[in-house]
Amino acid sequence: MKILVINCGSSSLKYQLIDMNDESTIASGLCERVGLDGKITAKAKGQKVKFDVSMPDHTTAFYEVKKILTEGDLKVIDSLEEIAAIGHRVVQGGALYKESCLVNEQVKADIDMLSDLAPLHNPAHIQGINAAEDVFGKDVPQVVVFDNAFHSTMPPKAYMYPLPYEYYEKHAIRKYGAHGTSHRYVSKRLAELHPEYKKVIICHLGNGSSITAVKDGKVIDTSMGLTPLDGFIMGTRTGAIDPSAVTFLMQKEGLTPAETDNIMNKKSGFLGISGVSSDMRDVEEAAADGNERAQLALDIFYYEVPKIIASYIVALQGLDALVFTAGIGENGCNVREGICKELECLGIKMDYEKNDGIRGKEVRLDAEGSTAAIFMLPTNEELMIARDTKEIVEAL
Ligand code: AMP
Repeated sequence: MKILVINCGSSSLKYQLIDMNDESTIASGLCERVGLDGKITAKAKGQKVKFDVSMPDHTTAFYEVKKILTEGDLKVIDSLEEIAAIGHRVVQGGALYKESCLVNEQVKADIDMLSDLAPLHNPAHIQGINAAEDVFGKDVPQVVVFDNAFHSTMPPKAYMYPLPYEYYEKHAIRKYGAHGTSHRYVSKRLAELHPEYKKVIICHLGNGSSITAVKDGKVIDTSMGLTPLDGFIMGTRTGAIDPSAVTFLMQKEGLTPAETDNIMNKKSGFLGISGVSSDMRDVEEAAADGNERAQLALDIFYYEVPKIIASYIVALQGLDALVFTAGIGENGCNVREGICKELECLGIKMDYEKNDGIRGKEVRLDAEGSTAAIFMLPTNEELMIARDTKEIVEAL
């Protein structure tokens, strides 16, 4: 069975065709600047091709993906009929969707209705689902996999904000979390390797970062909130700050809510503090060259991340395993080391020699005598989406 996994952003479409017989990736690619000038990067058969092509909307982007998969040098299938189903990543399912499900008109209406909570993402997902229907026809099953579904097990004491209760009732304001598909993949992978570990903390550290506490396979807390802005310093996002700092800034600078949102989401974090870059590698390089603001950005990161981990050890009442994943977590050996050094006071000890140079492969990293196991486990959100999609269409 071949499954096409789709991640639609407002001006992008990421795809991955997965052969579920061996869970291998047959082809993948990214359509960027949809609605603008249009750029595609496509990978298959060990080749990578980049080209410019006009894609006025997501439907034309899907036609381009169809062409790439079925024609020319990167052709991997004879016709679209070989694709059994399409799995879509959806960022916000609110409190309505606790599991992945088949797309129907009601599901589409709900995703649309939840756009308030994910204005940059949900409308794009609907466009992607409709475009896929246009290109593949209505007979190809489409499945939606919600990014926050894994976090739906959080208890009210973790997800409620102490605002007047009426706002929760009126506007559904609460913590939903994000990166759930990644946290779920990693949590399941660890459970396959070590079913005995019941209290687990997963650090998804990338351009966007979140930390999740998982007890008996269920999320009990996570660092992202109503939106993916909450938590700790990220590439361009603030993470948690005093909410009054926001209203103070709006008043002082005469900013609109949209402008403030833009500053907090796109101009803050590593970029905002360092003034150098949102990319961890650039910030590290600048700090090594003596840039004090870059060093400050790193200092904040190495202060905030262990603090959240420590707070989740309390929430879990112990810790069996700490896991690192995503771009920084998988590649940043010194980042993992820096975080674990701060955790030594809790008896968590990393084997720093073993950690050195480890990138992109599953590894256990704790030193002898550590109170908790430490792992680096690469995430695979696309495979998680494909697995859910397979399970749902096989049950049809
Ligand atoms: P992601 O959003 O998961 O793709 O992760 C992107 C982030 O991973 C960026 O901040 C990169 O700088 C970071 N990253 C990638 N490779 C490394 C590395 N070798 N060391 C530190 N950070 C890295």
